[in-house]
Amino acid sequence: MLHTDLIAPCAELLRRHAAARASKCAFRDARRSVTYSELAERTGRLAGHLADLGIAPGDTTAIMLPNSVEWVESCFAIARAGAISVPISYDATEPEIAYRLADADCKAVITTAERGDLVGRLKDSMPRLESLIVTDHGVCSAKAASYCKLSSLPPAAAPRDPTSLHDTAFILYTSGTTGRAKGVRLTVHGMLWVAAACWAPITGLSERDVILSPLPLFHSYALNLSVLSVLAVGASEYIMERFSTSETLRLLKSGDFTYFPGVPTMFHYLLQAARADQTTHFPKLRLCVSAGAIMPATLNREFEAHLGVQLLDGYGITETSTMVTMNWPSGSRVMGSCGIPLPGLAVRIVDLQGNDVAPGQEGELIVHGPNVMPGYHNKPDETKTALCNGWYHTGDLARSDENGFLTITGRLKDLIIRGGQNIAPAEIEEVVNKFEAVLDCAVVGVPHEHLGEVPALFVVPRPGKMIDNDALLAHCRKELSAYKVPQVVQMIAEIPRTGSGKIIRYKLREQVKI
Ligand code: AMP
Repeated sequence: MLHTDLIAPCAELLRRHAAARASKCAFRDARRSVTYSELAERTGRLAGHLADLGIAPGDTTAIMLPNSVEWVESCFAIARAGAISVPISYDATEPEIAYRLADADCKAVITTAERGDLVGRLKDSMPRLESLIVTDHGVCSAKAASYCKLSSLPPAAAPRDPTSLHDTAFILYTSGTTGRAKGVRLTVHGMLWVAAACWAPITGLSERDVILSPLPLFHSYALNLSVLSVLAVGASEYIMERFSTSETLRLLKSGDFTYFPGVPTMFHYLLQAARADQTTHFPKLRLCVSAGAIMPATLNREFEAHLGVQLLDGYGITETSTMVTMNWPSGSRVMGSCGIPLPGLAVRIVDLQGNDVAPGQEGELIVHGPNVMPGYHNKPDETKTALCNGWYHTGDLARSDENGFLTITGRLKDLIIRGGQNIAPAEIEEVVNKFEAVLDCAVVGVPHEHLGEVPALFVVPRPGKMIDNDALLAHCRKELSAYKVPQVVQMIAEIPRTGSGKIIRYKLREQVKI
């Protein structure tokens, strides 16, 4: 059932919860917290000040902050000013920041004093970038407005509080695991449709939940679940500045958290740590959800068995305002599958000619529905390629079983083609992850004189364990067709991943020694 009441403008949601649960904590971090009535007041003032600073409807404002309550407040304030949020990773490099600010044509940036000087420098070459707002009292030589004042003093203008749900409200830069990042335009309607069709009806997210969120807020997964959906249902959330295994374990053990969203690597490390300190349950935790990368069946099963809590995998993409499929807590489940399509979404698996493939066959996953992006920012050609007659071409390879359970088998561009035979790196990774001494692994394709490409395997051993390459390869030979067995095995301290848990394959490709 679609929870249509959750699809409403941010200002209306804020008013609704300020009236129904004024003194309830909405968001907190290690430094401060904000109740629903304070959140409504503070974001209203900030939105008015943004208008006073000349931010017009449809203008873009960057949020470049660490995960924090200020991040969330800024996002709602920008929405209430009728402007567009452009989240930028706080850890982004100077060229990455410059590219995003210029590409999205940002008129204002909300950041810390620490980053203020860098933005001040970039401002000189960006005439449209007029305002800098800093959230703390640190030293910043650039001319900046104080977030503290803007959120506490009355503005001249009232918040615009737009009622339209279909205007672009966010421009999110995709992970960019290959090539230059593209700005994905998203709307409040598309984002909250996911809350209404997935998080609330499937995972039961409600005002009774207390969420522990370790996800990077600038990424679509967190913006959708940890920011907008938490507001939509009126829940309470603790925002971690960044994921730390020991801190997550401590908080889940001691706190009253009911709901924990993560990416597969986080669950992997959490399970290791729980085993090491003999933690077998978290008192109030009712559900974990995972998205962002393939959740290996073994990890899913072992996590649930050890900690006695359901871990539901779902498949999401920035271009579809996140979720496309989800596993349900009830009914049958297929481990290793990312679940079934959200009710209300049309999903097909097609071959290179665009014909639907039979169940069990691999093909490209394409999606049509209310959460598909209107397009990329200023990239009409890329938009045309990605959106064909309203169907978003995900570039992901998938298989469906007879009952519609989907499994992601790799990405079109991640495919390794060895002597004409296709190999999905994820398939090899799933097998290698089952090998006792392996903590983590990744597979990349490397050029080969005769075969075109061959798979190279990077492995991280478990602490205190040695990996016997011959035994590992024998294990692979047992589980995989000969052509899929890695040609090269290399030890590595850590697999490079994006904030949302995806393997950064090009970084590994550069490190292969043949
Ligand atoms: P992003 O736009 O950064 O969220 O990346 C989206 C991509 O992450 C998808 O196209 C998939 O390749 C991958 N992905 C997300 N969720 C899953 C999942 N549950 N299983 C496998 N791959 C996933």
